[in-house]
Amino acid sequence: MTHNLGHPKDATIKEMFHKIKDDKKHGSHHAAHFMKNVKNQLRLIFWETTAGCNLECVHCRRLDVSKELMRDDLTTEQSFQLIDNIASVGKPILVLSGGEPLFRPDIFDIAKYGVKKGLTLALATNGTSIDEAIAQKIVDSGIQRVSISFDGATSKTHDEFRKLPGSFDMALRGLKHLQKLGMSVQINSTIAKHNVHEIKQLYKNAVELGVHALHIFMLVPVGCGVEIADDQMLPPEQYEEVLNWFYDVSLEKKIETKATCAPHYFRIMRQRAKEDGIKITPKTHGMAAMTKGCLAGSSICFVSHKGEVFPCGYLPVEAGHILKQSFKDVWDNSEVFKNLRDPDLLLGKCGICEYKKVCEGCRARAYFEKGNYLEEEPYCIYEPIQTQKEKEEVTT
Ligand code: SF4
Ligand code: SF4
Repeated sequence: MTHNLGHPKDATIKEMFHKIKDDKKHGSHHAAHFMKNVKNQLRLIFWETTAGCNLECVHCRRLDVSKELMRDDLTTEQSFQLIDNIASVGKPILVLSGGEPLFRPDIFDIAKYGVKKGLTLALATNGTSIDEAIAQKIVDSGIQRVSISFDGATSKTHDEFRKLPGSFDMALRGLKHLQKLGMSVQINSTIAKHNVHEIKQLYKNAVELGVHALHIFMLVPVGCGVEIADDQMLPPEQYEEVLNWFYDVSLEKKIETKATCAPHYFRIMRQRAKEDGIKITPKTHGMAAMTKGCLAGSSICFVSHKGEVFPCGYLPVEAGHILKQSFKDVWDNSEVFKNLRDPDLLLGKCGICEYKKVCEGCRARAYFEKGNYLEEEPYCIYEPIQTQKEKEEVTT
């Protein structure tokens, strides 16, 4: 086996991860090598291929206006140009999302074009429209992973949220059609007050279904989350409990688990590993050992259905526009991205936190709460050592 990982541009992140994971002897060394090389390397692009959708979920910013907004979706030609441009920056994973990407008639042409250009393609769907024929088309297009969203572990919770009776069963059916064809399937769940009581069952479902991965998203009160945020956000203490529990199940290694948009998971992971005397390596902690909390603008970005580029789908600070400049220009030169790539610019307690380089806090939550995306993360209970010391000095 070769120990040369090559430059990140030479292989997809997934390929590199498998090289590292397979190399038991030098895993830790390669993780460090990987982190060094992928700094500010474009790893994932979430592209809202359409504003259109077949559902009207409680949390969605689109609600009744999706049909209206769809008129501004990028055309097929503009979509191909975007892919050409992305391919000139690197070989990231391109996640085709929406709205509902399968609502877009040319979605498979777009996927095939992306594959032809050397990108790794993934599809983020609500799963409800996937019958046998659609599942086959997804596989044939070269898409390598499909994530299906479940907003609860039961049909009652999910359907209530999705405002469509039967949508849980439809999504489950779609998932099984894909599995039958050997597609790698991932379950995505946004955790909020309405479904947090079902989180253990959700994990159990994912394991029993034999999906490849379970990714939990902690609700962000901006963008898609803004409609229900106030009464659905978990309090910071409960948020901490959920992440600690998720760390425990990650150690079971039954399926791939990932806490997304929960940057302080990476602080918790380090705190817990230290308590247990475990060294964090790809062998012990998988992909989580090689990444950090908030990747907005440093390794990931979001392209809206009409071409605006944002650090992520929840941080509404525009970094550029692909119809006015090249994607490469946005990625390389945007002021917003430059700011997000420099943890030394962080403010408040994130700015003095010893975990800031592996966590960074959620920049979208900071923006929502304080109007400045560089401010401190409002849903983290951790007190950086510097604050703890200052408090001790006052009391002694
Ligand atoms: S700012 Fe970072 S952590 Fe927050 S939603 Fe965006 S990518 Fe996720
Ligand atoms: S204070 Fe900020 S950087 Fe530190 S762990 Fe909490 S969210 Fe992360």
